[in-house]
Amino acid sequence: MRQRILLLVAFIFMGSNVRVSARPNEADTHFDVFKGSFIESLWELYPTWASSIGYHKFDALLPLPDAAQRNKELAFCKSNLAALRKFKVSDLSDANQTDYHLIENQLLSTEWGIKELRSYEWDPSSYNVSGTFAEMLANDYAPLDQRIRNFYARMAAIPDYYKAARKNIQNPTLEHTELAISQNIGGLSVFESDLEDALKKSGLDDVEKSRIRARGAEAVAAIKEYVEWLKNLDNKHPRSFRLGKELYAKKFMFDMQSTYTADEIYRKALDRKKYLHEKMYATSLLLWSKYHRTSAPTDSTELIRQMIETLSADHVKPAEFQSAIEKQIPVLVDFIKKKDLIYIDPSKPLVVRREPAYMAGVAGASISSPGPYDKEGNTYYNVGSLDGWDSAQAESYLREYNKYILQILNIHEAIPGHYTQLVYANQSPSLVKSVLGNNAMIEGWAVYTELMMLENGYGARPHAPTADAPAEMWLMYYKWNLRSTCNTILDYSVHTGNMTKEEALKLLTQEAFQQQAEAEGKWKRVSVTQVQLCCYFTGFTEICDLREEMKKKAGSNFKLKQFHEQFLSYGSAPVKYIRQMMLR
Ligand code: ZN
Ligand code: ZN
Repeated sequence: MRQRILLLVAFIFMGSNVRVSARPNEADTHFDVFKGSFIESLWELYPTWASSIGYHKFDALLPLPDAAQRNKELAFCKSNLAALRKFKVSDLSDANQTDYHLIENQLLSTEWGIKELRSYEWDPSSYNVSGTFAEMLANDYAPLDQRIRNFYARMAAIPDYYKAARKNIQNPTLEHTELAISQNIGGLSVFESDLEDALKKSGLDDVEKSRIRARGAEAVAAIKEYVEWLKNLDNKHPRSFRLGKELYAKKFMFDMQSTYTADEIYRKALDRKKYLHEKMYATSLLLWSKYHRTSAPTDSTELIRQMIETLSADHVKPAEFQSAIEKQIPVLVDFIKKKDLIYIDPSKPLVVRREPAYMAGVAGASISSPGPYDKEGNTYYNVGSLDGWDSAQAESYLREYNKYILQILNIHEAIPGHYTQLVYANQSPSLVKSVLGNNAMIEGWAVYTELMMLENGYGARPHAPTADAPAEMWLMYYKWNLRSTCNTILDYSVHTGNMTKEEALKLLTQEAFQQQAEAEGKWKRVSVTQVQLCCYFTGFTEICDLREEMKKKAGSNFKLKQFHEQFLSYGSAPVKYIRQMMLR
């Protein structure tokens, strides 16, 4: 659940409708009614999930994470699976077929999570209320006084919430225990300074304010008590943070909804790593004499490392970071038009803005799009600034996001990556896809476009002798692509095998050319998440493979532009099902 919410906060996508005939058939009409009641009861069952995607009817509720709630969830899964299976998939429109699969996957995955995965027993970090409450104060979806009153009502359950949490926990992993302690402490300010700031701005009278403050203090006490309890837990036989082969294979199946198994994707990632290393070596050798007067290092890894170092020095000045990103957007659009790669709707230009204060510190760029219940909202391209960074910090960051990588980042986040995918998905909205959309498809598309743009010569100078992208661009692309490839190898090796921290750091720094700090961060992430790190490579691989299949099928009639437009027309559905429809 928590992971799901995090993904949803990052990208809220709308699905599409690719019905062949304009007139809905009877099965579709019935299915639409079923979907409506499914979503409404989903929100009733998960009121904090509902709030996080902008549905505020249940804002005053906070369900307890106890056995009664889990039984309610199981009953919900059972009855909705029965209702779902009354429909014959082949009777439905393409859009409803993919919705069917997404709903089915969600229900089966929930059942499996409660019965088999049982992370509510071993992951204490799954208990944390601060995010939900922080959003109620930060997001301006309703008048402040009303939001504070819901905040107050929802707070009432916090002490019982943490009591239920303590009852669930058995031999938790040390990693998730540590994470729970730091994240719950980090969230305290929501009920202290954040709440106090909101009260000052509100129109509530003093009596009501002090009642709210008192309940805020109870919430703080309950969270602190939970943290103390975790710190003193007599945990003689902690569970390993490694998921193990069997659970991993299942979780991969539910989270990725891929044509491939976890084992198959792992083997494909190993092959890709080998391919990238060969390409990087050849490209570095080619570039060496252009940049150096000395002879090239004989060790291939050292040669690649030094060449990457050399090219990383080509970066913008801190003050120009934002404008460099902004200036890129029209260049990308022009290139796509000139090469006829995909139709870009000119009526929906991307709104570039400086990242809002609550995102500050996360330099770089990201897309934020309105949720499915906020149709009037704008989609923004948030661009970070390096204001206030010390010069060493800024230099290291700018070397990482050098001239080449910055362009790849824009392709990924904006055009024709995430933003373009979003515009296509919005053409025929599906609430189911905006809530349960497939993350491997979404990330896979963005990663695929990086390769596709370079294949078509992106970055070549206007009068260059060949139309191929420059070797510098390719080398940095390979390094970038190696990151998602090695993320997959790391995740699989850690959770299904016994890859140690030392081995992991070696893989990331020596084979993927990452900085020590980045590699350490990745180790932390892999020890508290599972499968998530695979979504980029899995989706990318499936899209590349599908393109090859389509090329074979269409022969000389294959048109890249048509492939892209058809692929995106199905919305944020798993590539597995898009493939079935495209090959049909
Ligand atoms: Zn520099
Ligand atoms: Zn992405």
